Amino acid sequence: MTAAEEIRRHDPFASITIITDEPYPMYSRPGLAYVLMGEIPDSRIFCRTREYYAERGLELMFARVAAIHPDRQVIELADGKLLPYDALLLATGATAVPATFPGSQLDGVVYLDTLKNVQDILRRVQTGARTAVVVGGGITAMEMAEGLAHRGLTVHYLLRKKTIWSALLTNDESQIIESHARMTGIHIHYNEEIAEIIGAHGCVSAVKTTSGQFIPCDLVGAGIGVRPNVMLGKNAGLRIDRGIVVNEFLETSAPNIFAAGDAAQVFDHWSGEYRVDDLWPSAIAAGRMAGANMVGARAAYIKDVPFNAALIFGVHVTSIGQAGTGNRSADDENETLQYQSRGSSEVWWARPGGPYTSAWSHKGDNSIRLVLRGNQIAGALILGVQDITDPLRDLVGNRIDISSIRSQLQNTNNASLSQTLRGFWERWRRTPVRLPAYPLGV
Ligand SMILES: Cc1cc2nc3c(=O)[nH]c(=O)nc-3n(C[C@H](O)[C@H](O)[C@H](O)COP(=O)(O)OP(=O)(O)OC[C@H]3O[C@@H](n4cnc5c(N)ncnc54)[C@H](O)[C@@H]3O)c2cc1C
Repeated sequence: MTAAEEIRRHDPFASITIITDEPYPMYSRPGLAYVLMGEIPDSRIFCRTREYYAERGLELMFARVAAIHPDRQVIELADGKLLPYDALLLATGATAVPATFPGSQLDGVVYLDTLKNVQDILRRVQTGARTAVVVGGGITAMEMAEGLAHRGLTVHYLLRKKTIWSALLTNDESQIIESHARMTGIHIHYNEEIAEIIGAHGCVSAVKTTSGQFIPCDLVGAGIGVRPNVMLGKNAGLRIDRGIVVNEFLETSAPNIFAAGDAAQVFDHWSGEYRVDDLWPSAIAAGRMAGANMVGARAAYIKDVPFNAALIFGVHVTSIGQAGTGNRSADDENETLQYQSRGSSEVWWARPGGPYTSAWSHKGDNSIRLVLRGNQIAGALILGVQDITDPLRDLVGNRIDISSIRSQLQNTNNASLSQTLRGFWERWRRTPVRLPAYPLGV
């Protein structure tokens, strides 16, 4: 969508066709969780109306693309129809990894990937599903568990590891999320996986876990990762690794074919590697740049700092840059500072008389973790109050030298952390000349 809009911006006369095998105009995939939870009706997740497409001369075609013929510059639809192109963008996204536990084919194994999936889950809830087992260590599984709990189901959430979202959260952060998850009534089972899904009359009836537990249930929600949709590109002979490999102009290995979004593997100057992303803002930014390049702009796509904001079990979670628990550099030059408290990050008070007697209490429900590398903040993980998210996004994203406040950060308490960072950020914003944060030409 953003590529098409960008092409139209550059060229009012280009013939632009958007082909999708889903029966709707563009919708917000991140919004699916809110529909599942019942916070918004499904009508509210559409980002563009059909009129919007028509007004801008964007043809929206509901069809499945079966093949690409790069030698002839045509694509082939599932019904055999051929369409020529001057420039083609593969923005085929990613798909939930299908479960492979014994019994995964049973009716009642559900995913959270498309609007159709959500409608299917809601239909099952309305027709009597009462108990669900959800499996998966990332955000999709958590959103499914939370959504089903909100819909009144008894939810058992199985985690292979001993903490929540272990790839991103430390033990302390995991405990904050856990306490909120338990408040929503979710039963968390650590170090537990599905050994087998047991069926009755072709439908899910229970789960047997690896530790031998037997959990009767009507639904099994699988949120065990996503896989880039690369088959079209692969069959057309494009260079594929984990995703469709593109250069800085988002060009694939075939002339006039571009790729962007979840399907593409792009150079990430933050890690120095070609990576696939499954983030909405990255898909938008890359789509926009692909659109510009499809009409000849020759503009390099430089990935913005990794950024994700989510609401999990009622807790705002934002990760910026290299915040993952696995992001240790080879020589372990990172230093981690963690601040936890209960209350507003502007005030960071210790609640008198309450259980939170210290701003450093591990029972607090706000937390800021900074990953320092040399004189830069390489990453940040913010749970709860988000007042210093914008400053941190700028400081990480622009690789700002924080040497003048480094010792203050190390010796601060939470109150002065917020003030120190905000004051430093405001001074930086007023600086008239800013040097590029990454070497030119990357
Ligand atoms: C439940 C959920 C929650 C999410 N939450 C967040 C979040 O909080 N923050 C965040 O940053 N990101 C989130 N994401 C990820 C985000 O939605 C994706 O990064 C983004 O949608 C990627 O955009 P895209 O255009 O590359 O692909 P998609 O949005 O996946 O669109 C690809 C489209 O191409 C279609 N297609 C594929 N193959 C063909 C074919 N052969 N013929 C025709 N059509 C085809 C697909 O059906 C699909 O409609 C979430 C995703 C899900 C599923």
